[in-house]
Amino acid sequence: MQLAVVGSGYVGLVAGACFADLGHDVIVVDNDQKKLAALNRGEVPIHENFLPELLERHRGTRIRFSDDLQNAVRASKAIFVAVGTPPTHQGEADLSYVESVARGIAGAIDSYKVVVEKSTVPVYTSDWVRKIILRNGAEHGEFDVASNPEFLREGTAVKDFKFPSKTVMGEFDGKSGEPLAALYTELGMPTIRTDLKTAEMIKYIDNSWHALKIGFANEIGNVCKSLSVDAHKAMEIFFMDKKLNISPAYLLPGFAFGGSCLPKDLRALAYSAKLHDLELPILTSILPSNELQVARGLRLITDKGHRRIGILGFSFKPGTDDLRESPMIEIIERLTGKGYDVRIYDKNVQVASLVGANRDFILNRIPHISRLMVDNIDAVLQYAETIVIGHKEKEFESVPRLLRKGQCLVDFVRISNDGNHNNGAYDGICW
Ligand code: NAD
Repeated sequence: MQLAVVGSGYVGLVAGACFADLGHDVIVVDNDQKKLAALNRGEVPIHENFLPELLERHRGTRIRFSDDLQNAVRASKAIFVAVGTPPTHQGEADLSYVESVARGIAGAIDSYKVVVEKSTVPVYTSDWVRKIILRNGAEHGEFDVASNPEFLREGTAVKDFKFPSKTVMGEFDGKSGEPLAALYTELGMPTIRTDLKTAEMIKYIDNSWHALKIGFANEIGNVCKSLSVDAHKAMEIFFMDKKLNISPAYLLPGFAFGGSCLPKDLRALAYSAKLHDLELPILTSILPSNELQVARGLRLITDKGHRRIGILGFSFKPGTDDLRESPMIEIIERLTGKGYDVRIYDKNVQVASLVGANRDFILNRIPHISRLMVDNIDAVLQYAETIVIGHKEKEFESVPRLLRKGQCLVDFVRISNDGNHNNGAYDGICW
């Protein structure tokens, strides 16, 4: 395929060289004359393993360097935009380079092209790029915008291109996705085709996660050192747990956590760090973040404007009658405190049979809880104007389909992937 790659930086140059190595004809475009001159002299402006060899192999045959964007666009079927998106003073991604390239592309479109965002850009940038191209002379149907975020790591970029952790392609429709998918099939690695917004978002999810992992590990390491625990030895054991630690467990967005362990143990860890004069900004911000999620849940419920609220599931998680530090108890307490009429159903909780600290907890927080409890889902559905699903339980799966006109459902657990099959109004907490 004839390709243009705009931007000869870490991403553009590596992508250009690797596409050439896969047998495509590539024009790499840059507006930095010094860089272009160096590249044309056979110099490689960045240090990247295996890149000099690839450029040497294909320079002047399958890969060329140019400052002529318009010519490159006219000669290409797909145009990869790999210019910088540095932060402004406010932290916003500066899209001025992307904008300038989009304007340049628009004037040169003479047959169907796929314009591929490779730069890391905020969600909805592809829509914005499409509008810029349309406003600047191209017509609907002559081009599509696709997203192909880059996951390579500097230093191992060529290897990462050939053996990617994943290849994500965001497409407006199949027509724009096909040429892009064809480019990557040769690598024989799994590719993920999705919509444009998801593709744009995934890069930010990945990078936030990687940064969080590093910050978390460093804070844990600092605590370990202060307690004379070998942090690497401890983390090796942590990694061995592929069920709960290194796994998708706990990573689907939803409602706040609670229970008798997580909040208590986070507080105890923070306390022992304080004794050693250690600051743990990441670890100590987890509980405040969790409290904000409780407040968000409450606001979703009260915003519905109803007074009769039904709660389905209120122990700290499904399958237990443990109510200690359950975030649903917090919700119920705040609702009843504000004068809402609440009915609760949870098949696992019989207040009369609760014992010990669990019993003390609930009777201290909401002494009249038994009066709010009903025996079945129907009683909640009959009574409540707004229903809240607090547990991902099989018995609640039909609830979205049972809503009456005017009834609202607030879903904390994504009980169903389809929010449209009911008469009432459906609202998910993070979706
Ligand atoms: P870079 O600064 O190394 O390269 C950008 C290139 O674009 C420069 O050579 C610049 O001269 C050129 N350029 C700017 N405006 C231009 C224009 N109007 N016309 C032609 N060329 C133009 O940037 P990079 O590190 O390659 O990053 C590019 C994008 O990829 C960014 O959005 C970045 O966030 C993302 N990304 C980077 C990495 C990485 O490891 N560097 C990894 C994944 C994603």
